[in-house]
Amino acid sequence: MNIIFGPINSRRFGKSLGIDLSPTKKQCNFDCLYCELEPAKTIESYKDIISVEDIIKAIKESLKTHSDIDVLTVTANGEPTLYPYLKELILEINKIKGDIKTLILSNGSTISSKKIQEALMLFDTVKLSLDCATSKCLKKLDRAYNSITIESIKEGMVEFKKEFRGVFIIEILIVKGINNKDSEIEELNKFLLKLNPIRIDIGTIDRPPAYKVEALSYEELREISLKFSSSLPIYIASRKKVTSKPSFYSKNEIIDTIKKRPLTQDDINVLFNKRSKDIIKEILDRGELKIVNSSGYNFFVIN
Ligand code: SF4
Repeated sequence: MNIIFGPINSRRFGKSLGIDLSPTKKQCNFDCLYCELEPAKTIESYKDIISVEDIIKAIKESLKTHSDIDVLTVTANGEPTLYPYLKELILEINKIKGDIKTLILSNGSTISSKKIQEALMLFDTVKLSLDCATSKCLKKLDRAYNSITIESIKEGMVEFKKEFRGVFIIEILIVKGINNKDSEIEELNKFLLKLNPIRIDIGTIDRPPAYKVEALSYEELREISLKFSSSLPIYIASRKKVTSKPSFYSKNEIIDTIKKRPLTQDDINVLFNKRSKDIIKEILDRGELKIVNSSGYNFFVIN
């Protein structure tokens, strides 16, 4: 039983040690088409439960070997917020972690529960998935346990965001032919403007999925990112499928592109050729562009 995995180096969080709250089998209230784990029947609560003591013991052991960890990432083979002692666990983690930050990755399904909100408040960073803004999409893509509604997820997120003082990130995974439709993006946009998270990561399938579904290319994700309001802090997190070569953009084209959606260095590397990158540097030096850090990522924006 491997409760601890990693460490993994992440650009955003540094050296991260993973904590798996369901190390024996997949336990999830979603059965997402794109899941990288085997398909499994959805559940309402964990059946296989490991004790807080065992988890803390495993963390302490691992920290003896890895003394330079930046973040402890709570996750699961499934949904970590279904772990029944999540609040007790994070209270214990906070006692032993010292300067290390804490992060939880959740599918967001349980966020309307007061008990879950109380537990998540104790993390430094909370990253929740929100692939869909309509119940039709939630049923089709995330195949949620039947008592879960999109309304309760959305209400719970808004409620939680009001009180949470840490870093709150939303992640959207986009699947071809399902949630890349204009109507779904429109609904997501409407809700995200209301929610106002610190960052929104949009990505697509990067690993072999549980069911036969298709990923989008980087260019398609960028097209989608442009359909969201330009005030939303969107970061394109998937670059595995890049279909075009870097091209030349004139100064005006660069300014227009950045006006529509701020770019990260990764976007610049994919989109612009060497000459265009030199132009970006010149515009930056002249003060027409500036770099703004949004929760760990640098964005090039108009000054
Ligand atoms: S929420 Fe995560 S673990 Fe659960 S089915 Fe979806 S992708 Fe898999």
